[in-house]
Amino acid sequence: MFDREMTTDRRRFLQGMAAGVTLGATSLKIQPAAAATHSGFVPPNLLKGEVIRTSGQLTNHGSLLEAPREIPVAGHCDVLVVGAGPAGIGAAIAAARAGMKTRLIETAGCLGGVWTAGLLTKILDAGNKTGIIQEVLTALAVRGSGVAKATDGTVYDPELCKLILEEMCGEANVYVQLHTQLVGAITDSRNRIVAIVTESKSGRQAWTASRFIDCSGDGDLAAQAGCQFDVGIGTTCECQPMSMMALVAGLDPNDEALQPFIRENGPEAKPRFLKLMREAGINPSYRSPTLRHLHSGIFSIMTNHEYGVPATDAARVTEATIASRAEVHEIVNGLRRLGGPWKDMAVVTTAEQIGVREGRRIKGRYEITAQSIVEGLTHPDAVCRARFGFDVHHVRLDELIPSEAKITIPGRAKPYDIPLPALIAADVDGLMMAGRCISGDFIAHSSYRVTGNAVPMGEAAGRTCAASIIRDVMPHELSWEQVQQICPSTSKAASGVSNSESDLKD
Ligand SMILES: Cc1cc2nc3c(=O)[nH]c(=O)nc-3n(C[C@H](O)[C@H](O)[C@H](O)COP(=O)(O)OP(=O)(O)OC[C@H]3O[C@@H](n4cnc5c(N)ncnc54)[C@H](O)[C@@H]3O)c2cc1C
Repeated sequence: MFDREMTTDRRRFLQGMAAGVTLGATSLKIQPAAAATHSGFVPPNLLKGEVIRTSGQLTNHGSLLEAPREIPVAGHCDVLVVGAGPAGIGAAIAAARAGMKTRLIETAGCLGGVWTAGLLTKILDAGNKTGIIQEVLTALAVRGSGVAKATDGTVYDPELCKLILEEMCGEANVYVQLHTQLVGAITDSRNRIVAIVTESKSGRQAWTASRFIDCSGDGDLAAQAGCQFDVGIGTTCECQPMSMMALVAGLDPNDEALQPFIRENGPEAKPRFLKLMREAGINPSYRSPTLRHLHSGIFSIMTNHEYGVPATDAARVTEATIASRAEVHEIVNGLRRLGGPWKDMAVVTTAEQIGVREGRRIKGRYEITAQSIVEGLTHPDAVCRARFGFDVHHVRLDELIPSEAKITIPGRAKPYDIPLPALIAADVDGLMMAGRCISGDFIAHSSYRVTGNAVPMGEAAGRTCAASIIRDVMPHELSWEQVQQICPSTSKAASGVSNSESDLKD
């Protein structure tokens, strides 16, 4: 186990958190678990850059017949969480605080998912929540700018968010492994998930655990484990568009001429911003462009929609990323040409990951439907009460939805419960989901997916996995009431206040 006593500074501490590696005062050595082998198998020496080579045969029908190869089991833990977005953060911290050895595997180079790598900058539907989400909001507000303070941390600086999440995971003793992508999952003869496979600079590795939580957003883990899922709407599986977020500078936040366009000054800011752009001959692909001041003259903008891009097609996501980045620069160049308050506007950075609104929705033991949200669903196993309305972004720019994919919103959303069984995989035991990949229909997803709900869902999944280990049962054998008794909340954060209800609208 990682030995905190041996590390003195933050860099060493975070390096040491990287799964499978213990950093001592003078030496770096592979953990015993990382070197676990049966006789004859020698894991690659990562310090020497060794690899386990792939071998196989190219067939003449466009495939590669990959030869079996032995790969190392790089580590074991109690609870393994895939994806370190808002849901994964909640899940990993909650499981670790419940005393579980918890590993968090993330493909990006930072924690936070859409919050950070996606440069989101606004947390919705968090005002009525207790627990880890309030701890995050408080830290973002206390350590953040005047804007963060004025919005109770819901408008935040993504760079500060990265740091806070690393610190929170560090304090909870979560074993964080960045730059590592889940590529496979193994189930046993009882249909229970027992291991995952990852790819990274360390090659292909297996990781075992007692319980697993899919917080990958796109449901990669559950799909690999053999769970059923839905994608998008209708037989065409069309999804809501992706968006490239960006940070910009060169605008004076105190300039009177800029105020009407800043989102936090009122909802009219968006149509005004669009009108300004159109009058300047700029036609943004997102028709509700958003400008937010974060701190010190750094703003975030959302001006782009990429339509018809499947989240699980890397080539199409790449195309969308490149096209969207070009559009963001084009829009900023166009605004700068307007002069006045825009004359020095410049892109500081575009997001490292294009914002993906939806991927797979994994079949759980309960499916949240739009109709149940209209009726204000209540449930004895409620882990979180959501209040955000339906927010379906058009699936096509021309708004010509194919008939089989007709989007029908059955009414106005009422506050509703997210029940524990919607977070438990229906088809595979020992596997939970949290965040935007939980079990729900296309319209319901457009409401529960926001990050003020993703964190409490993750927290509930983390506590449920921990409780199920303590009681030696499967997660689906516990009620939420039992989970709360076995693993009481470790968070001291009380419910937030949301007098303005500004966290319910974007
Ligand atoms: C453009 C846009 C604007 C939005 N606006 C808002 C808003 O204003 N406020 C709000 O609260 N919500 C907003 N949302 C919704 C919200 O951001 C997401 O629904 C939310 O982030 C879901 O959290 P999550 O943890 O489930 O997923 P994500 O944030 O997507 O996190 C998933 C994580 O898993 C990692 N991952 C994925 N696959 C793998 C793999 N195979 N192996 C390892 N790691 C993997 C990803 O890198 C990522 O870090 C917006 C979303 C988008 C895209």
